Amino acid sequence: MGPEPLPGRVVALQANYCLVSLDGPAEPGSDGSGPGGYGRLLCTRRTRLDKSGLQVCVGDRVLVAAVDWRARRGAVVGLEPRHSLLQRPAVANVNRVVVMAALAEPALDPLQLTRFLITAETTGQPVQVVLSKADLLPAAQVLAWCRRLEGWGYATAAVSTRSGKGLEALRRQLAAPGIAALCGPSGVGKSSLLNALAPALELRVAAVSGRLRRGRHTTRHVELFPMAPGALVADSPGFNTPALPADPQTLAAAFPELLARLRVSPCRFADCRHQGDPGCGVGVGWDRQGIYGRCLEEVEAAAAARCRGRQGDRGLRQRGDRLEPLLDPQLRRSSRSTRRQGLEQGLPALDGDLSSPDPEDSDPDLR
Ligand code: GDP
Ligand code: ZN
Repeated sequence: MGPEPLPGRVVALQANYCLVSLDGPAEPGSDGSGPGGYGRLLCTRRTRLDKSGLQVCVGDRVLVAAVDWRARRGAVVGLEPRHSLLQRPAVANVNRVVVMAALAEPALDPLQLTRFLITAETTGQPVQVVLSKADLLPAAQVLAWCRRLEGWGYATAAVSTRSGKGLEALRRQLAAPGIAALCGPSGVGKSSLLNALAPALELRVAAVSGRLRRGRHTTRHVELFPMAPGALVADSPGFNTPALPADPQTLAAAFPELLARLRVSPCRFADCRHQGDPGCGVGVGWDRQGIYGRCLEEVEAAAAARCRGRQGDRGLRQRGDRLEPLLDPQLRRSSRSTRRQGLEQGLPALDGDLSSPDPEDSDPDLR
């Protein structure tokens, strides 16, 4: 029997590796006060660690075994249940989501901001808005935008890395314990903001060892950065059009002002589309009504397309250039669960992964 697995948190992912920040001292007997602090280990991982097929995400609480202290390597052998998940960027255990939009350059696009807010809402965690580049608009317009977004149901703060406006208050908020995910379209100033709030970040990233060494401006993956003891910020690469949820009911639940209207006057029909039809408690004339309508159309069109797709290839799948019957998923899964049992028992099942990609990743039949 080897030593007990060590608890830690995944702070970055790349290919089949993850960087795990250990909860405890880097090495047995050390107090963690050395240059490495509480150690970070480059660990092998399986994309699907537990029985339900969950993938390891940044933010996940994991157990690390088979530690080679000199090479600073280990293997993830266990995954704790998550209390929340932000889908894109994928961040587990977020405690709040900060959606960032620029007041100008690029001009604030309420539809795009809404798409980010919808993604944020699906975590079930508190969501707040930060409006950047406040130096580019007259104060009255900045205030008007803040009031408008508060009308949508969001605590909203305007900031500027140029003038320093709002930075101190935001720094205090992000220093609260837990994980804050910062998201928003590229170019709104997320990197500038993080550098302004925590100038040491760049340094810390440069200190990352091994294969994960790279500047934060070249990163294509979400990473967690320490803002204060126990406080982490997830910074994500820019992507500009978050997907909408598949279910229209989930969509409605992502509009706080719609929910507020529903609480006052419920709709007559449970499957109401909240388009202000007779019997709809939400009614008309609310700010994001048009935006909600457009999102709803998109969600319904996607659902209809999925339905058509299913009717087309029922029971068959494409393999190369021919169709063949689908296997029973239970049959396909058995060999994987056998292997995974070894993983959960902490057996050295990951040895081969240090140099070769996990075959489960490249085998489309196992997805
Ligand atoms: P990211 O893609 O969200 O990380 O955005 P960046 O931090 O790379 O910033 C995009 C551009 O916006 C850069 O040219 C920054 O100099 C500029 N920028 C960032 N913050 C501010 C701000 O507060 N005011 C103004 N005027 N420009 C800013
Ligand atoms: Zn309704």
